[in-house]
Amino acid sequence: MRYECVKAKSLLSKPLKADGWFHVNRTMNAYRGCEHGCVYCDGMSEHYHVDNFMTHIRIKENAPEVLYKELKKDGYIPQSELETETLWSFLDEEDAMRIAQKVPRRKVIGVCGGVSDGYQPAEREHEVTRRVLETLLDFGMPTFVLTKSDLVLRDLEVLREINERAFVNAMFTITLHDETVQKVFEPRASTTSERFSALKEARKAGLLGGVMATPLIPGIGDSIENIRGLAIEAKKAGAEFIQFGGMTLKPGRQKDYFLNVVKKQFPQQLELLRSVYADDHPYGQPNYKRLPVSVMTLGYAISKEVGIRDRSIRNKIPHEHDANNLVLGVLLDIVFRRTNNLGMSWNKTKPFYELAARIERGVEDINLVRERGELDEYLHIDTEMAETVEEILDKGTCQVLEEIEGRLDEYSQKVMESLP
Ligand code: SF4
Repeated sequence: MRYECVKAKSLLSKPLKADGWFHVNRTMNAYRGCEHGCVYCDGMSEHYHVDNFMTHIRIKENAPEVLYKELKKDGYIPQSELETETLWSFLDEEDAMRIAQKVPRRKVIGVCGGVSDGYQPAEREHEVTRRVLETLLDFGMPTFVLTKSDLVLRDLEVLREINERAFVNAMFTITLHDETVQKVFEPRASTTSERFSALKEARKAGLLGGVMATPLIPGIGDSIENIRGLAIEAKKAGAEFIQFGGMTLKPGRQKDYFLNVVKKQFPQQLELLRSVYADDHPYGQPNYKRLPVSVMTLGYAISKEVGIRDRSIRNKIPHEHDANNLVLGVLLDIVFRRTNNLGMSWNKTKPFYELAARIERGVEDINLVRERGELDEYLHIDTEMAETVEEILDKGTCQVLEEIEGRLDEYSQKVMESLP
């Protein structure tokens, strides 16, 4: 294994319009490359231009300093400086107000879980992710962590403090219930049971969070036993949800490496996997018609049976209006379900996504807008969409989402019955 310390020039990704999977606004990577060595890892694809992805780890040692500068450039004020400002403005309340009003709406920062794991083995010594968290604490930024390592528990105290100032959404990627199989596909990550124990600790400490059960490998991770096993363990660990997803396999070194391992370890599944990914879609999409089962549908049915939510949760950003968070949560559920559960065309989903993106950017209290009778004009929506927003504000859900869930109930029932 080769480790190399590098200097990052920039860190945060461009702001995301609205994200229905992880609910983050910006993402970052403290490392390039990942020692966990997952056989299906997307990061090794040529698409990301990282050679020797699993054996050459670039450590962005200056990541916390770059993050500090970028957050300041965006107009955020760290608490360390705010205390000085407050002291200065002690005699002048108006100044203090001016400072508070100048600070932009806070954004959810995804610390790890992009194209590397921030809690891979190198983090034990280099502590870059830990220092990134300390920076986020200073700025009071809502934080998202996605990992396959229980090393995250080392930083539980910092995470707990961020959670008190903003929130921490701690998700664990857990894809295989059987640890013998898990060790083949995720050789240097924490074991499945270690991840569930870590999740339990994180939840006990008051952090938000759940399980990202993705990618589920066709023919290997998409069985009822695996999905049910993961859902039951997630519930036991106190997860708020478990979200399932399929696998992409980009043509080139990602696909070659993956199929090579399958050939040696699971030869009986080789033909199926070759056929599912035979189209060589540039983004690695499977041929959906050849998949043995839809893991989203199966996950939906089994989550209901086990009694756990099958969708990640959009959490309220500090100082955000409750009504806005409520409407956003439902809109993102509609977008996710229509696109991923029902495979509906983007045209039918787009108006909901566009409205979610507008609210995500920050708008005034939607309840007040409603009281003024200006929902359509203010949010640039038609009468029908304005009625949907009103329905969400009154009931916490809406007919559009209820209809989707009704269809999903029927469809998932049929899928369950058709399985051996
Ligand atoms: S933990 Fe994530 S980034 Fe690291 S090798 Fe596994 S899939 Fe890739």
